Amino acid sequence: MLDLSKYTKELSDHFSSAGNILLISHINPDGDTIGAQLALYHFLKSEGKNVDMIAPNNLQEFLKWMDGADRINVFIRNRDNCRNLIEKADLILMLDFNQPDRLGEAENLVLGSKAVEIVIDHHLDSKSFGDLVISDPSFCSTTELLHEIVTGINGGPFRSKPYSEAIYIGIITDTGNFEHGTYSSRTFRIVADLLETGIQKEKIINLIYNNFSAQRLRLQGYALDKRMVVIPEYQSAYIYLTKDDLATYNHVKGDTEGFVNLPLSIGGVLFSAFFIEKDGFVKISFRSKGNFPVNEFASEFFSGGGHLNASGGEYRDTLENTINYFLNVLKENFSRFNRNV
Ligand code: 5GP
Ligand code: MN
Repeated sequence: MLDLSKYTKELSDHFSSAGNILLISHINPDGDTIGAQLALYHFLKSEGKNVDMIAPNNLQEFLKWMDGADRINVFIRNRDNCRNLIEKADLILMLDFNQPDRLGEAENLVLGSKAVEIVIDHHLDSKSFGDLVISDPSFCSTTELLHEIVTGINGGPFRSKPYSEAIYIGIITDTGNFEHGTYSSRTFRIVADLLETGIQKEKIINLIYNNFSAQRLRLQGYALDKRMVVIPEYQSAYIYLTKDDLATYNHVKGDTEGFVNLPLSIGGVLFSAFFIEKDGFVKISFRSKGNFPVNEFASEFFSGGGHLNASGGEYRDTLENTINYFLNVLKENFSRFNRNV
């Protein structure tokens, strides 16, 4: 495990000396990257710092209610403004990713900026970029790691409700509400502290998990009934959705979150994939049970990465060709990746 105390002073010094601090989340931002961004934003604002936030593209709808989310600048919606923010930053923190291509269109601007660049992350296979990488996969979420860092800098827990909500949301979204991932006794101790700052966990759960449209629930039913294929010989299953499927059910960003987990509820299935048709490429999510490293699978075959049991990637071809490629790759490599035996 990482000795965080050695970073406390270094980070404090960077925070003190920086005039303009910029916090950046990863492309297709999820609850953990946005949670980390907003938590750090609330902490640094309370210290009187100038802080700006950029997300490479739009947030999932179910995160937009979060305190401060309306202050996140979306790069692809306001390129000029975001370019200015990157140029004037003295310190850039990149949260919840370890590969520069996760910056999307902002990649070259950020890598070329004069700012000190710090990565805070919990993914496996960290690629070294920026000036300082603080990464530890034993944390279930970047917000859990960030909370330990902020507690160190603050000399004790930072007690603020919007901060605690953001830390909590990173933890629940990256663990599927304490179902998977590397959550531990430490996680529950942190959650206990967060609850003591007065966050309303039932309200948060309802806003994150129980606030979708009826059409989204119907899309889930359709995906399971008509678009799920089970492959018993490889203990695998996949779901795919076409652009037309999404349009038929008035899809909004975030509606398909969690679909990839559903096939894992089938007994005997230990590897699940989910394909979404995009313009010119297919976005893919992978999930597994036990020791089937989907991060390695995503990185070897789908230009992606992630965690042991949750990863993602993409493939630049049609949906049909992507699925055929996946099936070939699965056939040839299943026994190499299935380390449960
Ligand atoms: P999701 O399937 O929920 O989009 O992503 C699951 C995990 O895989 C997350 O930790 C996410 O950061 C990672 N991930 C998803 N897509 C990509 C990708 O295209 N590249 C990389 N490196 N990681 C990804
Ligand atoms: Mn994360």
